[in-house]
Amino acid sequence: MDSRRRVPRTDAVLADPRLAEAARRLGRGIVKSAVVAAQERARRGEIAPESVADTAAAALPSHAATLRPVINATGVLLHTNLGRAPLSAAAREAVLAAAGCTDVEYDLETGRRARRGEGALAAVREACPAAEAVHVVNNNAAALVLAATALARDREMVISRGEMVEIGDGFRLPDLLVSTGARLREVGTTNRTTAADYAAAVGPETGFVLKVHPSNFRIEGFTAQAPVRELARLGVPVVVDIGSGLLAPDPALPEEPDAATVLREGADLVTASGDKLLGGPQAGVILGRADLVERLRRHPLARALRVDKLTLAALEATVRGPRTPTDEALHADAGVLRRRAERLAERLPGHDAAAVESTARVGGGGAPGVELPSAAVSLPASYAVPLRRAGVVGRLESGRLLLDLRTVPAELDDGELARRIERAVAAGEERPCT
Ligand SMILES: *Cc1c(COP(=O)(O)O)cnc(C)c1O
Repeated sequence: MDSRRRVPRTDAVLADPRLAEAARRLGRGIVKSAVVAAQERARRGEIAPESVADTAAAALPSHAATLRPVINATGVLLHTNLGRAPLSAAAREAVLAAAGCTDVEYDLETGRRARRGEGALAAVREACPAAEAVHVVNNNAAALVLAATALARDREMVISRGEMVEIGDGFRLPDLLVSTGARLREVGTTNRTTAADYAAAVGPETGFVLKVHPSNFRIEGFTAQAPVRELARLGVPVVVDIGSGLLAPDPALPEEPDAATVLREGADLVTASGDKLLGGPQAGVILGRADLVERLRRHPLARALRVDKLTLAALEATVRGPRTPTDEALHADAGVLRRRAERLAERLPGHDAAAVESTARVGGGGAPGVELPSAAVSLPASYAVPLRRAGVVGRLESGRLLLDLRTVPAELDDGELARRIERAVAAGEERPCT
């Protein structure tokens, strides 16, 4: 076919100055893939052979990884599939600054090795003075594995039957804990476990008592739980997995435990996630008694769970820096959200857009049952696919697509969001959605 012969050769297209520049920035492989895809389209007759370079240039990704930034308009603050907590601008800058060579484990005064990530550890200690010491690992699951291995291997962890939880994607905490060689000593029942149940099970075999915050479900009705204060009197270490990583109480989430309160009540160690309500990077934060933290830190397994300089930078800037996007979303005023939704709907004439009330949630396995009054723009359900392709993720509810503004940062100009919606829908009309 004539047009097939006229499709320009790959090398010739790659010589286009825009593509040559992109190859220096993104790597040749990514640019070549875009060129090959454009050549295919020209061979199929979808585009003119002369526009192969233009088409390839337009299809180039903005950066060299396939992870794409998205706007979380789901109304779920900590959406696990969308990377949980978005980092603050301060944390993003800290990550970028630490990305090259950095003094993560080096003292620039003496020229000697220094404690890894001391700045991040100090930031968490200062934010939670009830903790004598802090250690940071890859995530909360890693924190629990490290505690179980270092403190209860070949011994027992005493845990309530009401706290044997599945954290998501089929991962169950009990399975994770016994994989370390520590044994579970289950006490109480699903709905009721008392301090006396724990006391009867504690003995020479006990490594520690473990309390796990039931962060993704609620047990209501005839229930009983042993307070940390009473467990602290049993004479064995008490480890509390608080889940969400609040360092101090938050009045908006009265049921959510926080590290400072739990430590003051007598917990010896607290473990938490960095990327839930703490609002930082994926990490497992371990806070508490200095001797126990040191045992965990010195355990050989700690090396396999240690965090990267990027995580340490993001964590420190999250804790020391301004309010996190998660905190701002959690406390956003419902009236302000309503007005944003109304203005956004007005900016979308001809799209059957309306401002509606909505209910946002914390998500990420946190604060189950907490409903955050919110506002959304309601759009036709058929917009869901083109908007997702444009990186705007909403929520389908009662046959409509809702864009919930509680999780859309206020700094993101809603006018820009409206233009993105317009463009996405226009592009979607050209390309049939499947
Ligand atoms: C989320 C959660 C975990 C798992 O934390 P990751 O940081 O995802 O490993 C463990 N325990 C509780 C109570 C949680 O809420």
